Amino acid sequence: MRKIPVSILGATGAVGQRFVELLINHPYFEIVALSASERNAGKTYAEACNWVLSGSMPEQVKRMKLLPATVDLPGRLAFSALPTGIAHEVEPQLAAAGVTICSNASALRQTPGVPLIIPEINAEHLAMIPLQHSQMGWKGLVVTSPNCTTNGIAMTLKPLDDAFGVEAVFATTMQAISGAGYPGIPSLDIQDNIVPFIAGEEEKIESETNLLLGKLIDGQRVAANITISAHANRVAVMDGHTIALSVKLRHKASPSDASMSLSDFRGSSLVQGLPSAPAQPIIVRSEQNRPQPRRDRDSGAGMSVSVGRIRPCKILDLRMLTVVHNTVRGAAGGSILNAELLCAMGYLESV
Ligand code: NAP
Repeated sequence: MRKIPVSILGATGAVGQRFVELLINHPYFEIVALSASERNAGKTYAEACNWVLSGSMPEQVKRMKLLPATVDLPGRLAFSALPTGIAHEVEPQLAAAGVTICSNASALRQTPGVPLIIPEINAEHLAMIPLQHSQMGWKGLVVTSPNCTTNGIAMTLKPLDDAFGVEAVFATTMQAISGAGYPGIPSLDIQDNIVPFIAGEEEKIESETNLLLGKLIDGQRVAANITISAHANRVAVMDGHTIALSVKLRHKASPSDASMSLSDFRGSSLVQGLPSAPAQPIIVRSEQNRPQPRRDRDSGAGMSVSVGRIRPCKILDLRMLTVVHNTVRGAAGGSILNAELLCAMGYLESV
């Protein structure tokens, strides 16, 4: 199979580096362009990027010259790790110029006709694409991935919602430092500390979870109606967001019923066998002190969500703990899985 040429927007940041790592030997995609801000355009990737992931910067990208984020980027498929404000401007321009964008930014997640996708849970929402074409008039296409924390929450709720109906959720997050990008939060603010505010995060969790668990009716997305109360906190963990969840169910379920529905979950058959799809999207841990971010974030190569401590809740029905790798499943890996799904469904044939 001829590999599809791809660009990475925001390639020097926390998510951009993860894109480089995950795409460097990808069976479908080949990196042909890396982009960063104007201040770094023209520099080589090695000059501009402080590689913060394990191991070394891949040789193949070290000498690539960084391009500005403009419509002249080569490659008709782009992965976006742009800051939201920039994505608001750049993503519609690129889509109008015919580029297909798989985006991590929140800029267009709520836009009618723009699918917000976790492939295992709502691949069928890609049927919104004709609405996007008619409403936006773009020659290209935008498909978005949810907020990093929402990835873990929505994945955990999906099997519970299918089996028992989810009515209300109380979510307290403990979010890793890499979720704030690079260089991110100053060390004097986060060492020996918890910061109980992440701008916009609680709102994103509450609205995006309902979009992901919503239905498509006549090609339009209708959000679910789950009442969600989120408390977002930044903690001194490098990677991996942890979320304590209490869940109210429409039909009562025991912890073992819930555990079975979570570990049996495989998600849409469209996704199974795609290169980045984990064999098991949700791994249920039975130990009383798991999941933990350092020990469980890399499960399924960072693409599986780990759930444990499933037990009764005296206020709602059940409580549990979820760990999701924020820059893999919660960002770059999730977007790459979206692109693999687009490819499998024939949306990238003209790219
Ligand atoms: P980051 O580390 O701050 O990286 C931002 C990237 O955008 C850098 O490559 C930067 O290039 C580039 N950039 C900044 N201003 C630009 C401009 N005016 N024009 C073009 N490029 C510009 O941020 P991040 O954490 O990787 O996040 C990227 C996006 O993914 C954000 O929208 C974020 O909300 C979303 N996201 C992040 C996570 C996470 O866990 N970190 C998870 C899910 C979603 P320079 O190096 O040249 O400044």
